[in-house]
Amino acid sequence: MPENITHDTVILGSGCAGLTAAIYTGRANLKPLVLEGHEPGGQLSITTLVENFPGWPEGVQGPDLIENMKKQAVRFGAELRLAHLSSIDLTKRPFALNLGKETIHTRTLIIASGASARWLNLPSEQALIGHGVTSCATCDGFFASGKEIAVIGGGDTAMEEALFLTRFATKVTIINRSEKFRASKIMLDRAMAHPNIRFLSSTVVEEVLGVEEKDVKGLRVKNQVSGEQYVLPVAFMFLAIGHIPNAEAFRGMIDVDHEGYIQTRNNVFTTHNGEIIPGVFACGDIQDRRYRQAITAAGSGCMAALEVEKYLEEHGR
Ligand code: NAP
Repeated sequence: MPENITHDTVILGSGCAGLTAAIYTGRANLKPLVLEGHEPGGQLSITTLVENFPGWPEGVQGPDLIENMKKQAVRFGAELRLAHLSSIDLTKRPFALNLGKETIHTRTLIIASGASARWLNLPSEQALIGHGVTSCATCDGFFASGKEIAVIGGGDTAMEEALFLTRFATKVTIINRSEKFRASKIMLDRAMAHPNIRFLSSTVVEEVLGVEEKDVKGLRVKNQVSGEQYVLPVAFMFLAIGHIPNAEAFRGMIDVDHEGYIQTRNNVFTTHNGEIIPGVFACGDIQDRRYRQAITAAGSGCMAALEVEKYLEEHGR
């Protein structure tokens, strides 16, 4: 049934940033509505052990951390809804959010829609997504049991996923397009010390084999330095090559940088043509190309919530 109320605040996204914003705005009695989006729980919900979130000396499972944040937000009056934004008009107030089957209205908006997995965008890769090509080690690791597999990427995510996948796979090959790995030293050292992980650097995947069979049969790779091409016989390809910010819905309405990250001022204020957009704030990975940590996402979610409170105090509810 269509709503005819105007919300004080709507939060787009239910990852670390969105849920922290929900906890704070909930505690301010603003009854936040959280639209969970395409990937409820965000990136933490598809990760394993998080070792660097303060307060968890032994680490905490990402999905558990998210589940606890949800409970905490709901306890303070947040409503979580499985819906995502189809379109929005930021020129009229209150803002009208088109959710496909319904339109809702809000005085303020917190954009915390995060970023989604990046793909290589090879036709053969796209054809085999779900058939041996995946970007979620925690979801699909089990299916790699007893097989030789490849992880693409050279950052922390690639190291973390490769280590996790050694629980299932007999051999994990990490393929990095550059010579140098971007991962932190501790993660790189850990992966390098593992007997079942090997590294291929300066190497790119040119084709995923097995499109006709609908099952990955290997990767045709090329060494960028020597030019050598060969087939790596693996049964799975796990992508860990970073993320793309989910800011498409705001194209032309909010300033973004050359890679599509929302450009914020004073941490969480959004702009259009350099002018602040009153009442619209962004937090978490959608506006953070530099730190991209769970704790920094949570921190910026808190800042966005405090700015919403301040805005509503100044402009009325
Ligand atoms: P990242 O650090 O941006 O690394 C992305 C990797 O993918 C790089 O090796 C990059 O290669 C490669 N890449 C990008 N586009 C590619 C393409 N089209 N083809 C082939 N390779 C490509 O991303 P991330 O590893 O997901 O990490 C993101 C952030 O989360 C980082 O700040 C990281 O520290 C953090 N994180 C932390 C932990 C932890 O502390 N436990 C775990 C996971 C993530 P180039 O270097 O050549 O560009």
